[in-house]
Amino acid sequence: MKQRSIAIVGCGVAGLASAIFLARAGHDVRLFEKFDKPKPVGAGLLLQPTGIAVLAELGLAEKTIKQGRRIERLSGQVANVGTEIFNLEYGDLQEGLFGVGIHRASLFNILFAATRAIKIPIQTSTEIIDSNEQIDGNIVLKDSADNEYGPFEIVIAADGAASKLRAARAEIKSSKPYQYGALWGVVDALEFYSDSLTQRYWSARKMMGILPLGNGGKGPAKAALFWSARTKDFETIKEAGLEKWREEALALWPEAKPLLDQFQSFDDLSEASYSDTTLFGFSEGRMVFIGDAAHVTSPQLGQGANMALLDASALAHGLNHFDTVHEAMQFLEQNRSPQTKFYCRASRWITPFFQSDMNFASLIRDVLFPLFGRIKFTRTEMLRTLTGTKTSIFRHMPAEYFVHKNDDD
Ligand SMILES: Cc1cc2nc3c(=O)[nH]c(=O)nc-3n(C[C@H](O)[C@H](O)[C@H](O)COP(=O)(O)OP(=O)(O)OC[C@H]3O[C@@H](n4cnc5c(N)ncnc54)[C@H](O)[C@@H]3O)c2cc1C
Repeated sequence: MKQRSIAIVGCGVAGLASAIFLARAGHDVRLFEKFDKPKPVGAGLLLQPTGIAVLAELGLAEKTIKQGRRIERLSGQVANVGTEIFNLEYGDLQEGLFGVGIHRASLFNILFAATRAIKIPIQTSTEIIDSNEQIDGNIVLKDSADNEYGPFEIVIAADGAASKLRAARAEIKSSKPYQYGALWGVVDALEFYSDSLTQRYWSARKMMGILPLGNGGKGPAKAALFWSARTKDFETIKEAGLEKWREEALALWPEAKPLLDQFQSFDDLSEASYSDTTLFGFSEGRMVFIGDAAHVTSPQLGQGANMALLDASALAHGLNHFDTVHEAMQFLEQNRSPQTKFYCRASRWITPFFQSDMNFASLIRDVLFPLFGRIKFTRTEMLRTLTGTKTSIFRHMPAEYFVHKNDDD
């Protein structure tokens, strides 16, 4: 294997995971992060068996499972009526499969500690905004204060959904914001510390979800609570006041009162807006895009962090096993394109059934989803989609491959 000088922009899931893979393989890796201290953005994440398998490759799955909460099923109900829209159990697809609900900070800390353990240099407070390709193909990075870094043989753009390097260098296929986003908060899980991610809906306009997260290694068990809302309504909701919002949430899910009561002000909730962005390919010359820098979806299918982890693993495999960067990029493209394309399309199709102003979409959902859940073939396909193992409408990766085996060092 040829050792290469590699710059990684962004200390999120994709950037940290690829840094660990590549530095352990002997490459000269340097991380860049815009924040003064690398930190996680957002609240809770659902890791799928695909993402857990990558963490196991890194020897970090056991820690993740211990600090998070094993999630065995996902269920969704229509509020007030109680009709079950779906109730999907990982184990129904393959015995031994499960998801993990985890606080972003816990996952971040696990990955970050692993980069520290192998002393990967991290340059913080550096917002990389552009790059220059030299005649030999090497890349020099430029930050917002006009400083230059490099040259590097390879640059990995892992700078997230609002990637500056993507805007500067990539060929964007499509990019569109979603009308709906969410307000998120983390609370003590109390009696909601179950092994299910649960959601309640009223048409497709209102949705509340509760995802148990574990305790990150200390203190009481937590849960992420998310409330779907049009991004343009965030301000109006806040102006109307916390009590008004709490009343509306209680009308949707009265039993969630002990969780909703823990919010003291809107400062306890963060706003998340979603977009849908795809590229024509993962790389431009020696710059490679992974994670949200390469593909942004709505979190409806809970796949973003998992796709970021799979990208990191495939990229490292390509760079560690092929002699030329070109071959490594071809491997990444062939390995990752089918799955990422499927999930970008699937979340585009599915999101309006759960977050939109279209009443007919929720009517179709309320009839078809329960029906699909009862037919063996469609139920299996729903489970495959959930677990992150689909690679096209008709293809999938074998679920057995993603059954977790203890990866303790
Ligand atoms: C509300 C919400 C809920 C979600 N729920 C789930 C879920 O349940 N399951 C799931 O799998 N996914 C979920 N996702 C998606 C998931 O969070 C992302 O797909 C995942 O975090 C992508 O990882 P990343 O490393 O590509 O980007 P990020 O985690 O966003 O990391 C990007 C990093 O780059 C840094 N950076 C940005 N710009 C620059 C720059 N110019 N220079 C230097 N550094 C820079 C940032 O500070 C950050 O540290 C959710 C997303 C949202 C918004």
